[in-house]
Amino acid sequence: MYPPRFDYVAPTTVDEVLAVLAERGDEAKVLAGGQSLIPMMKLRFVFPEMLVDVNRVPGLDYIDHSDGHLRVGALVRHNDVVASDVVGRVNHTMAAAAPWISDPLVRNLGTVCGSVAHADPLGDWASVMLACGADVVARSTSGERVIPMADFITGPFTTVLEPTELVTEVRVPKYAGRGGGTYVKLERKVGDYATVGVATHLDLDGSGTITTAGIALTSVAPNNIRAVEAEQALVGQSPSDALFAEAAELAARAAEPKDDVRGSAEYKRQVVRVFTRRGLATALEHAA
Ligand SMILES: Cc1cc2nc3c(=O)[nH]c(=O)nc-3n(C[C@H](O)[C@H](O)[C@H](O)COP(=O)(O)OP(=O)(O)OC[C@H]3O[C@@H](n4cnc5c(N)ncnc54)[C@H](O)[C@@H]3O)c2cc1C
Repeated sequence: MYPPRFDYVAPTTVDEVLAVLAERGDEAKVLAGGQSLIPMMKLRFVFPEMLVDVNRVPGLDYIDHSDGHLRVGALVRHNDVVASDVVGRVNHTMAAAAPWISDPLVRNLGTVCGSVAHADPLGDWASVMLACGADVVARSTSGERVIPMADFITGPFTTVLEPTELVTEVRVPKYAGRGGGTYVKLERKVGDYATVGVATHLDLDGSGTITTAGIALTSVAPNNIRAVEAEQALVGQSPSDALFAEAAELAARAAEPKDDVRGSAEYKRQVVRVFTRRGLATALEHAA
């Protein structure tokens, strides 16, 4: 199916993007990689009157870690993360997740920020950002705001982002001590969305005590969720198999899976249990 008619602009500065968004409000949609927006327009699930293509804005494709954060600009593609030495060294959860996103065609075009803004409950990046305690940076003509990822998604395909705002970057805190993480994903076939995905993130102090823990789940709730009780059970403790098994049990309880073509709810809950334990063990290996 063809999408309905729409206007198209391709500004070359962020200020121009923001001006168009301010003028057109919810008639306009930002076009980044187009890997979710274009299929949804073709299916006529969405029909924006104007597309604001940001691909010609220079300087939005940075991966920077010069301050206390790993900063990922709005035009960083999934495959830029796969290829990034910096991400490989600075954030293991992101490095592990990137190759799991779909196939090479989608990874070449789709963006990390676009995925976060899109808030598809089957999307992998939102779980990574939740587990790592990331912030979303949004700009409009009124200024900039920094939104904790935990407050960003309000439901399936729904966020606190205003139609006038552009996500300019996501900011992932760097490990404070010995840190590690990973992303474990089950998919029916290569390139599929997750049947279950589990993002894990650990930070340990010099004595080996867990100071920060992040666990977030993909495809097992109406949107990506943190397993908060599981995280709380880990903080202040020394890592052990028994502790990780307890956290895995709490994560499985936090999941709200449904029976569907990808598997039964019971099966998915068991996958969350196994992947959380496995993910925490891998995170600890990285931290060591
Ligand atoms: C066949 C296929 C398989 C896929 N498999 C997976 C998968 O396994 N895992 C996974 O996580 N994803 C998967 N995806 C989705 C893919 O990751 C998309 O790239 C991603 O969801 C959206 O990023 P995008 O840059 O393409 O955004 P677009 O499609 O350009 O935009 C998506 C939405 O976000 C908004 N938006 C985009 N960027 C910004 C911004 N900077 N500021 C404000 N709003 C913005 C747009 O207005 C639109 O509403 C798949 C897609 C396809 C087509």
